[in-house]
Amino acid sequence: MSDTPFSADYSHIAPRLRAVRERIEAATARAGRRPGSVTLVAVSKTHPAEAVAAALAAGQTVFGENRVQEAAAKFPGLRAAHPGLELHVIGGLQTNKAEEAVRLADMIETLDRPRLADAIAAACAKAGRAPRLLIQVNTGDEPQKSGIARAEADAFIAACRDRFGPALAGLMCIPPAEGDPTPHFAWLADRAARHGLGVLSMGMSADYEVAIREGATHVRVGTAIFGAR
Ligand SMILES: *Cc1c(COP(=O)(O)O)cnc(C)c1O
Repeated sequence: MSDTPFSADYSHIAPRLRAVRERIEAATARAGRRPGSVTLVAVSKTHPAEAVAAALAAGQTVFGENRVQEAAAKFPGLRAAHPGLELHVIGGLQTNKAEEAVRLADMIETLDRPRLADAIAAACAKAGRAPRLLIQVNTGDEPQKSGIARAEADAFIAACRDRFGPALAGLMCIPPAEGDPTPHFAWLADRAARHGLGVLSMGMSADYEVAIREGATHVRVGTAIFGAR
């Protein structure tokens, strides 16, 4: 019997991570793409710092969080111990959280409106650091979802390109929960190619292999690694 009344067990994380990495490499090979060309973003939202530490111990270095407050509580300590750690903000971002997001993140994947671009630009100037940026496109034009509308995407991408230069790295999407994500991934890949953007963040636990087939460079996987939330 353990002395502690409750102690969580994180021993599932290393084997699950290994399995996801194997599936990523297999999907990359099936797509005829270069080995190692897909980055796994381990989505640790709602899971404690100890779970992130278990993933770090298993060699994972790139993490995604969707709430800035939660990331601020969990990551600074981990970063001190793991200088190679890379943190992505992947959740819809309020303008009043832009400063903290810019201070914390290596990449903000959810730039989706002009006012947020203003807030991020101001925060970068103030903080003297510039995370890489992805524009989130609401490829399904779903009213409840963040992301720039499809019809406005080209103009917004061009404007952000001018404003942020090479810090604007690519595009991100979350297709509708129902239905085949393939046309959404293909649309996003086409848009990135037209604008000469190299990063494509698409695919989650349920569909990351499809996303890799369609050209994802980053897949955001939570449940398949850390378990249910
Ligand atoms: C939670 C989340 C994920 C991971 O989802 P899983 O289905 O748990 O893999 C990916 N992207 C975003 C934006 C998320 O909020």
